[in-house]
Amino acid sequence: MNILLFGPNGSGKGTQGAILQKKFNIQHVESGVIFRENISRETELGRKAKEYIDRGELVPDGITTPMILNRLQQPDCAKGWLLDGFPRNVNQAKQLDEALTKAGLGLDYVVEIVLDRQTAKNRITGRRLCVNDNNHPNNIFIEGIKPAQKDGKSICRVCEGELKTRSDDQDEVAIGKRHEIYYNKGNGTLAAVDYFKEKAKKGAARFKVIELDGRPGVQEVSRELLTKLGV
Ligand code: AMP
Repeated sequence: MNILLFGPNGSGKGTQGAILQKKFNIQHVESGVIFRENISRETELGRKAKEYIDRGELVPDGITTPMILNRLQQPDCAKGWLLDGFPRNVNQAKQLDEALTKAGLGLDYVVEIVLDRQTAKNRITGRRLCVNDNNHPNNIFIEGIKPAQKDGKSICRVCEGELKTRSDDQDEVAIGKRHEIYYNKGNGTLAAVDYFKEKAKKGAARFKVIELDGRPGVQEVSRELLTKLGV
């Protein structure tokens, strides 16, 4: 099972991605994670990518695309993969499409979590991390997972632990830059999504496109996702 997963930062893409990975026992390939690993190992690739990442810009396609194509052809991806964070523009979408065809690697699903920009931004800035467990979801803007209150203080709704914010979740400029790229329908990530949708519409593809409304809670979204996947 090979899946492309799209969704803006704050759409719950990471959470749904983890559910898919487990369900199908496939490799979760995240471009951002590969870059960060290379940066911490101080590889040549990491050195080249770092300056762009630090500025919140896309790493050039000439570096990113070969890195991803190489990753997808590693033995641990043979059983299937979930690609997350790539492609992020039309050129990358075309390069991926061509490379998959050439390598005889099929794409089964393109999943898009649809969420408007303001809601996505609220989700990011509203996220609160439980110091006891990262997997205790708390968000001051999401009904159903709002933190509990005790003595006038917000605490984890699951374990009553202390809550913290991630500094990059509060950086409006950084959030804005990433969303600028995602929501750009001309040449950004939404244009890459359209590239695959158009292909599917023309009947020129064997993959299916699944659109998900990202507004409901985690469980509702994953239920809809799994239903649409037929599992
Ligand atoms: P992420 O963790 O997905 O937000 O990615 C972190 C950073 O890695 C991004 O802000 C970009 O600088 C870089 N990056 C990740 N994926 C890509 C991509 N597909 N194309 C270019 N740069 C990327």
